[in-house]
Amino acid sequence: MSAVPDGKKLVRSPSGLRMVPENGAFNSPFTLDEPQWVPDKECPRCMQCDTKFDFITRKHHCRRCGRCFCDKCCSQKVALPRMCFVDPVRQCAECSLISQKEVEFYDKQLKVLTAGGTFVVKVGSSEKSETMVCRLSNNHRYLFLDGNSHFEVELSRISSMQVLTEGSTPGEKDICSYTSLLDNQISEGGTLRASGMVLQYKPPGSLDLQQLNMDTADDKRIASAWLAAMHKAAKLLYESKDQ
Ligand SMILES: [Zn+2]
Ligand SMILES: [Zn+2]
Repeated sequence: MSAVPDGKKLVRSPSGLRMVPENGAFNSPFTLDEPQWVPDKECPRCMQCDTKFDFITRKHHCRRCGRCFCDKCCSQKVALPRMCFVDPVRQCAECSLISQKEVEFYDKQLKVLTAGGTFVVKVGSSEKSETMVCRLSNNHRYLFLDGNSHFEVELSRISSMQVLTEGSTPGEKDICSYTSLLDNQISEGGTLRASGMVLQYKPPGSLDLQQLNMDTADDKRIASAWLAAMHKAAKLLYESKDQ
């Protein structure tokens, strides 16, 4: 274990080197725990192709799901940023696909989110609006909204998020629909363009929900891409609750 700048440290696990925050309380909400490995005695055969393990056919554990496979079924080494591995690690075919999509999220959407977008923001039922820049904090734990006022929304305190979309079918102008977290129709270049977001969250020390209504401001292209990225982020967070 050695100290490195930026409050992170290197730790060695059986699966490889990991770079994690010094203080576990500052883990990114996208972080996943390493799985328990299926014990050797419980897997005499490859869990994918059923080949029996022996001295020649050795078993390997997938670093993402912890199941046992032969070399052929677990040969891919893929980056796994959600478990903070420094180098690509061995994964089964199923997990490799999921991890590759997540690498894309880290390379593209997370950068869009930390760069920020500009929105017209209304708080609660107030009619007063303010133009604010909204961005994800570098540790991915907060949304910072900055204008004349300043809000911090901790992701773990968000109770609901709805992304508002604009239909762009010819002849059907200005049709808006709310898209739930589980729908998957929003994309930067798709037919549905994100035009706003309604967030409900519990501010620290408060039992009441606060609502923020955010509409894309001047540079709609950047703000729409930011919303589409936030939608993907919410899906990742939502899905990892079930794991
Ligand atoms: Zn196999
Ligand atoms: Zn796996």
